[in-house]
Amino acid sequence: MSEPLRALLFDLDGTLYVNRELGREIHLSACRTIGALKGVTLSRAELLVKETKERLTTELGYRVSLTRTCTELGADIRELHRRFCQEITPEEFLRQDPRVVELLRRLGRRFELYLYTNNNRCLTERILGLLGLDGLFRRVYSIEDSWRPKPDREVLEEMLREIDCPAAACLFVGDRYDVDLLLPRTVGARVFLSTTVEELLTVETITGRYDE
Ligand SMILES: [Mg+2]
Repeated sequence: MSEPLRALLFDLDGTLYVNRELGREIHLSACRTIGALKGVTLSRAELLVKETKERLTTELGYRVSLTRTCTELGADIRELHRRFCQEITPEEFLRQDPRVVELLRRLGRRFELYLYTNNNRCLTERILGLLGLDGLFRRVYSIEDSWRPKPDREVLEEMLREIDCPAAACLFVGDRYDVDLLLPRTVGARVFLSTTVEELLTVETITGRYDE
């Protein structure tokens, strides 16, 4: 008999919203940082990021995050995220999707909701505000909590201790299997891969749906 579900842990970017333009802005900001660091053009920096990501993926056996790729290239993680916060304007790209707001409200009446993101607190708060999802999470885990991007086993286990919930009673929801879900699954949590809002809206096929 499986443990009843108690906590849902959501990734943010690409999961609670999908916006290619915003993703591209974050990618470009990272590449500008790498370009400045290495003294190369933006297109050269983009190539470096791409090659480094591919090499790490081969070496580690899983696809790595943009943050992890940039630190591999010598970027300071705090500086990288300071730049993201200064340069990225999610206000240009995002607006509320009432279906997602209603879904999270409904889930929040039955489960403990947490956000676990590789994004920084400054952008996360702005994005949650734009999506109308602020105040719906018991706790938001951002990159500042550990300065160690997902996937990170120690950070994951510490988080589960802190929320005081066994892995088997947790459902992780994310858009990148290797970054968001592989490790949670390894420690015994349930996982749900969602790469579009339409897929996200079907998460209740896992949690069950109870209309009140
Ligand atoms: Mg994501």
